[in-house]
Amino acid sequence: MKMPFKQVGVVGAGQMGSGIAQVVATYGTPVLVFDVSEDQKMKAQAGILKSLTKLAEKGKLSQKPQEVIERIQWISRWDEFSHVDLAIEAATENEKTKIEIFKSLDSVLPARAILATNTSSISITQLAAHTRRADQVIGIHFMNPVPIMKLVEVIAGTLTSDETKQKTKDFVLAIEKTQTLSQDFPGFIVNRILMPMINEAIFALFEGVGAKEDIDQGMKLGTNHPMGPLELADFIGLDTCLSILEVLHEGLGDPKYRPCPLLKNYVAAGLLGRKSGRGFYDYGEKA
Ligand code: NAD
Repeated sequence: MKMPFKQVGVVGAGQMGSGIAQVVATYGTPVLVFDVSEDQKMKAQAGILKSLTKLAEKGKLSQKPQEVIERIQWISRWDEFSHVDLAIEAATENEKTKIEIFKSLDSVLPARAILATNTSSISITQLAAHTRRADQVIGIHFMNPVPIMKLVEVIAGTLTSDETKQKTKDFVLAIEKTQTLSQDFPGFIVNRILMPMINEAIFALFEGVGAKEDIDQGMKLGTNHPMGPLELADFIGLDTCLSILEVLHEGLGDPKYRPCPLLKNYVAAGLLGRKSGRGFYDYGEKA
C-alpha cells in the first residue's frame, strides 16, 4: 500500500512517540518530532539509533540506520508542523495535556491534515471537540514496542469521517501493520480487557495471594502469556496503567475498574516501572 502522507508529525518523544517516529521513517516518510523536554529528545535519538542498530544486526532492516535517522527532524516550535499531513499526539496520558496539545496542533496544521492521538484510553470524541476539525480526528493506538508489535488499534470518534478512517487504514497498511477498528468507549478494545487483568494481578500481590514472581510465572506458563502481568505493567509504565484504569473507572462507572491502592502508592512514590528504573521489579538503572 502506498503511503498516503508526505510528512508526518509526532508530539511526545517518550517510548511510544520515538517508536512511532522510527517506524514511519523506516517506511521512507519524513517525520518531525516535538517534545517539551530537550532531555527526552536526546534520549529518544539514542534509543532509536540503538533499536535500528539491533534490527540491522538481526537482518531485519534493509537500509542503513543512518538513512532512517536522517528522515527524522527534532523540532522545538509548533509552527514547524505547518506542512504535515498527519500529526500523531503521543504525549503523557493526561487529558488536560492532550487537550492543550490538540489546540496547539489544530491552530498550526494545514486544513487537510489528520489529527490523531495514540491515547490508550482517553475519549477521541472529547479531544476532537477542542478542535475545528472533529471529522479529521482519530485514534491511532500503537502497541509497545512500536517497531515490533504488529497491531494498531484504530478508534473512530463520534464525528470521524469515512475519508479519515480510510486514509488511516491506508497509513497502517503502508507501515505493514494490522489494524482493528473500535468505537470510542473508555479503554477501546485492548485496554478494556488488558488493564482489568493487570489490576487484578496487582490486587493479588496486594492481598498476599502470591509473590510477584509466582503471579507472573503463573500467567506466563499457565496461560502462555509472553510476559507476566506485573512485568508487563512495569514495561507499559505504572503511571500510564493508573491513568488508563482511572479513565475506565470514571468513564464506565463500574467499581470493578477501581485501581488497586498498591498501584497508586507505587506511582506516588515515583516507582513507574522500567522507565524510572524500578516498579514491581528493580531494573538497576533507567531503561
Ligand atoms: P512516556 O512517559 O514515555 O512519554 C511521554 C512524553 O510526552 C514525554 O517525553 C514527555 O516529555 C512528553 N510530553 C509531556 N507533555 C508534553 C507536551 N505538552 N508537549 C509535548 N510533549 C509532552 O509515555 P509513553 O509510554 O510514550 O506514552 C505516550 C502515550 O502513548 C500515552 O497516551 C500512552 O497512554 C500511550 N500508549 C502507551 C503505551 C505503553 O505501553 N507505554 C502503549 C500504547 C499507547
